[in-house]
Amino acid sequence: MPHSGSSSGDSTPPTASDSFLSQFGRSSETTEFFSPIPEGYQRGRTAFVAVMGTVMSGLGKGIFSASLAKLLKDKGLSVAPIKLEGYLNVDSGTLNPYRHGEVFVLDDGTECDMDLGTYERLLDQNLTVRNFTTAGQIYTEILERERRGGYLGRDVQMIPHVTGEVKRRLRELAMTGGPDGDPADMVFIEVGGTIGDYENGFYVEALRELAFEEGKENFCSVALTYILEPPTLGEQKSKAAQLGIKRLMETGIQPDLIACRAEHEVSDTARQKVSMFSNVPLPRVFSMHDRDSIYTIPEAMRAQGLDREVLTILDRHQRVDPVHEDGARAQWNSYAKSITAPRTHPINIGILGKYTALRDAYASIDKAIEHAATHLSAKPDVQWIDVSDFTRNNTADALDGLDLHAVIVPGGFGERGVEGKIAAVEYVRTRGVPFLGICLGFQVAVIEYARTVAGIDNAHSTEFAPALDGAVISELPDQKAIEGLGGTMRLGGQDVRLDADSLMSFLFDGKTSIRERFRHRFEVEPAVIEQLESAGLRFSGRHPEQPIMQAIELPTTVHPYFVGGQFHPELTSRPLHPQPMFMGLVAAAIARANPDLPAKSISERWLHTPTPQTEMA
Ligand code: GLN
Repeated sequence: MPHSGSSSGDSTPPTASDSFLSQFGRSSETTEFFSPIPEGYQRGRTAFVAVMGTVMSGLGKGIFSASLAKLLKDKGLSVAPIKLEGYLNVDSGTLNPYRHGEVFVLDDGTECDMDLGTYERLLDQNLTVRNFTTAGQIYTEILERERRGGYLGRDVQMIPHVTGEVKRRLRELAMTGGPDGDPADMVFIEVGGTIGDYENGFYVEALRELAFEEGKENFCSVALTYILEPPTLGEQKSKAAQLGIKRLMETGIQPDLIACRAEHEVSDTARQKVSMFSNVPLPRVFSMHDRDSIYTIPEAMRAQGLDREVLTILDRHQRVDPVHEDGARAQWNSYAKSITAPRTHPINIGILGKYTALRDAYASIDKAIEHAATHLSAKPDVQWIDVSDFTRNNTADALDGLDLHAVIVPGGFGERGVEGKIAAVEYVRTRGVPFLGICLGFQVAVIEYARTVAGIDNAHSTEFAPALDGAVISELPDQKAIEGLGGTMRLGGQDVRLDADSLMSFLFDGKTSIRERFRHRFEVEPAVIEQLESAGLRFSGRHPEQPIMQAIELPTTVHPYFVGGQFHPELTSRPLHPQPMFMGLVAAAIARANPDLPAKSISERWLHTPTPQTEMA
């Protein structure tokens, strides 16, 4: 194999035309290799870091991988994460959030796993369809290629064709995953599930091949494992971790680094055992124990020198930009510090939905509240309330005692819980409880206003009552012709035009154009807009050209904080850039919890200064 060049410019990296391609990139009847290497690919330009889980899933592979990627991004390297999912669904759009956690939507409209949200938040970087792959996508691509005659003469096999397609995608991401579509310095690969899962086996095999083809100095593999601590024994046990890592080594992959998840800090004894049984030096065995906030993990990794170990493994110390690193670290650490600092303002926030048993179903909402609360020194007690049985008659009984200072009605599909949400909106609207309606929550706020204030007694959405003369929410014209359910909604980032003198525009620092992410099939019925507006509901955010209503509000003279978006504001909230509608909600909740707060109080200052985010930062 040719020696790889480093990308620092001291030697010319080999290109796809050299012996690398001739060894691995040919597809013919005479060789067993099939690795469709993208045109112009330069080996050594990009380093790959692959994170695989052992023992069990749900340990936070995505968080680990994102934190490591962040450390390297802070050093001035461009990073591109990718999640490899083993399921056969083409994307996450058709998955039930109750089983799989929320469906995250990217700006380009990709419906993906919630881990992509973790990457976007930690890296403060927008991702695209290239950062997410499922087995369904890989197989679809291969079967379509086969039908086009792309493999003439060959029987199409898991190895080399399926693994070849995985490698092709990873290399394509390497070539385009940097800023503005430039090559990325590092690709972080997260394999979904656990080593040994049947459906992920071909990803692991593809990574073994990739590691061999790219060379040691361009590939770092990380095993995430779990240290058990049975209460009956009172000590940490590493056997399950050892067996899990052995399982990985059986696939032909030697981990370079091991992260041990555990409840408490992993003891030296347990780390030594893991080190001894896996050929990984002790400094490369990291204790990733439970913490107050995941946002403190990058600094903990750095303190243990994990970032430097990765740079050593990948021979990339010379790529570090220390000035960039100091700036990025200072900014992040001041945020991370305020997460754990004592908070001034306790507030109660109710999330009124139907998937309240599983917090992951609303993971981004949870995060968006946390971001805003941290910036405003609020201590939110978030209560997840199932509204499925709420009616106009019993809602006050259910909510009165909870002393909620703010309420969010989140997005959703299907009829169950809708009447309960409508009753809940009436409750908060008539009592001045700060309110944020998200997608379906925005739609039910429109329905409630139409029924109770605008006199449209049978107002509803055609999603729930198709043959209705009181439709105030109806199917988007583009959606009527669509038949399939996967990837067919109005999806992804869209511009929202805001009225200049509105609360919405105030929240967004005086802007009159913002970009938010959508995922819906229904919209406010254009025929009733005038009637609703003359009854006092303001459509302060609209599509720049089409009659699609995208944000509502009530005047602050009528209600302290009543806003809603047809979009999902939670998807664009980032730790260092909290989403303004959540900032407004938390500020209004602080004001409600502290009616005697002096005029210069935090919420007053925030709600009445023209540049709230700069002021609060
Ligand atoms: N079910 C509604 C629609 O399709 C709302 C969707 C949502 O809340 N994401 O328009």
